[in-house]
Amino acid sequence: MSQAETHHFQAEIQQLLNIVIHSLYTDKEIFVRELISNAADACEKLRFNQSSGRPILQADIPPGIRVVTDEKAGTITITDTGVGMTHGELVENLGTIAHSGTKAFLSQIAKDKKPDVGLIGQFGVGFYSAFMVAKKVTVWSRSFAPDETGWQWTSEGMGGYELTPATDLSRGTRITLELKDDAKNFAIESTIQRIIQRYSSFVPFPIELNTKRLNTVQAIWARNKNEIKEEEYNEFYTFVGHDHEKPLFRLHFSADAPLAIQALLFVPQRNFESLGMGRIDSEVNLYCRKVLIQAKAKGLFPEWLRFLKGVVDSEDLPLNISRETMQDTSLLQKLNKVLTSRFLKYLDEQSEKEADAYEKFYAEYQRFLKEGVVTDFIHKEALGKLLRFESSSLEPGKHTSLVDYVKRMSGEQKDIYCLLAPNRAAAEASPYFEVFRDRKFEVLFLYDAWDEFVMEHLHEFDGRPLKLAEKADLNLGAKKDGALAEGAAKDLAQWLKDTLGDKVGEVRVSQRLVESPAVVVDADKFMTANMRRIMKAMKPDGPEPAAAKHDFEINPAHPIMARLDSMRQKDTALAGSVAEQLLDNARVAAGLLEDPRAMLTRLNSLLEKVLTKD
Ligand code: ADP
Ligand code: MG
Repeated sequence: MSQAETHHFQAEIQQLLNIVIHSLYTDKEIFVRELISNAADACEKLRFNQSSGRPILQADIPPGIRVVTDEKAGTITITDTGVGMTHGELVENLGTIAHSGTKAFLSQIAKDKKPDVGLIGQFGVGFYSAFMVAKKVTVWSRSFAPDETGWQWTSEGMGGYELTPATDLSRGTRITLELKDDAKNFAIESTIQRIIQRYSSFVPFPIELNTKRLNTVQAIWARNKNEIKEEEYNEFYTFVGHDHEKPLFRLHFSADAPLAIQALLFVPQRNFESLGMGRIDSEVNLYCRKVLIQAKAKGLFPEWLRFLKGVVDSEDLPLNISRETMQDTSLLQKLNKVLTSRFLKYLDEQSEKEADAYEKFYAEYQRFLKEGVVTDFIHKEALGKLLRFESSSLEPGKHTSLVDYVKRMSGEQKDIYCLLAPNRAAAEASPYFEVFRDRKFEVLFLYDAWDEFVMEHLHEFDGRPLKLAEKADLNLGAKKDGALAEGAAKDLAQWLKDTLGDKVGEVRVSQRLVESPAVVVDADKFMTANMRRIMKAMKPDGPEPAAAKHDFEINPAHPIMARLDSMRQKDTALAGSVAEQLLDNARVAAGLLEDPRAMLTRLNSLLEKVLTKD
């Protein structure tokens, strides 16, 4: 030990060390990621030197990483067969901070405690994370340069380090951590295995833990699309998606702005939320140079895309110094926008190229798209393109996009019409549909309780207003034969208003009914019966929503109206009963009558009158 050299840390390094040990990282386990990353860097440098033809010590030993835990001794040892370090490099890289910005950096992080400047590679703090868990760190290293010898570097973190020559070393670096008493769990194999798999599964050099190979799946997102086989994609998906089925959709792409990124995204066959498992979390992990930065990264995608699984990787992510988050939140927002737009474009393309798969996707995930329309102003229009509905112009079971609907619109038609109904039969039987059938205007049939809300938020598509059929301001094409004259119809409407009193808002002569004698129309411009029902369902015990007053529209061409008009002169009481029954019938048709039992007494007495007529 005559050649032992003792080196003292400079004051700044001591200060930095304290920060790294006590406040930089949120989680102690990060030290594993940092040391493995250094080992991987060393292997990468070796590969580089090898390919540039430089002489390499023990060239037959391939680059790789080995981790050994010793529970009894309370140690963990990480060995790599990378470039190793010379005496000079040990002093420079592990003993000093080579960059001139060090002092500025130190005063900066001392000021606001949570350092958020620069890249970790520039500051070289990763190695020191070992001292979060170790009371003593020993490094044996031998450079790849054939004429170099080996060295041992030892430090207890405080004060400085010792350097002594070491014999019988093979190429590379071995680091042993003698764990602190409260960090002995890092000598347990299963703990280390979990941590390595979490952060370093895609490190491009083999990692062995106690002779077991850990990282067998490749970071295929970084490779060229054309060279990747279908099975490789599926294997990768099984790994990141924890799903035994194949993915429904896959998008592999790279982008240049605002950052160079590579992304590999998957849509699972099944919407896991619909399986009653509660709200799912996005499972897109953020990587920087194949090392995990954030699992289930927050903010990378909007909430409504939480069904996505996969990986986003950026070489030059402006990371926080702890490498646990991104430094720049406005950049994260830009990234979010780029990724989301790209994925929406992909879905739009799939809907054309893979119509069947898109149908399946839509059936599983439409609620997410609709959530997007309602919550995501930026992508509303693009999301609108992805919606699908049944339509009066298509066979049952077939769906149209708004784009195709607009293409079919006739010149006369200004608005896009939607009709809310529980199913197709109900839609086609609805009195609100009559005028559209008559005018031959296409109507979208909306069966999902969310649709009204969604259409209200979408508001318009391709510059055309979206209108609910019941609110459409449309008249029949031609006057019908046998209709009450205009004056007579108006008088009848007035009589109905007098008779029904507060039970209705206005009573009007309708221009849009063909087969139905009358219809109720929401007096409230913004609130429909359906919406009121949804609100009530959300708050069953809440105050009764302001009693809905409906306008009543009558069909002057319907035989019932003509007869009612003559009946009201002869038998006011009977006509009054009929008027009330007509209102209830219209409410039934609109799905508004809460308790139809209430009208049975009246209906029975009307039947009695009919039966005793002669
Ligand atoms: P960074 O990796 O960000 O540069 P670190 O503190 O993690 O900072 O490491 C400091 C330097 O020490 C590295 O840049 C590298 O030059 C050297 N180093 C650390 N670990 C190894 C290793 N296993 N093999 C070779 N060099 C290493
Ligand atoms: Mg490092």
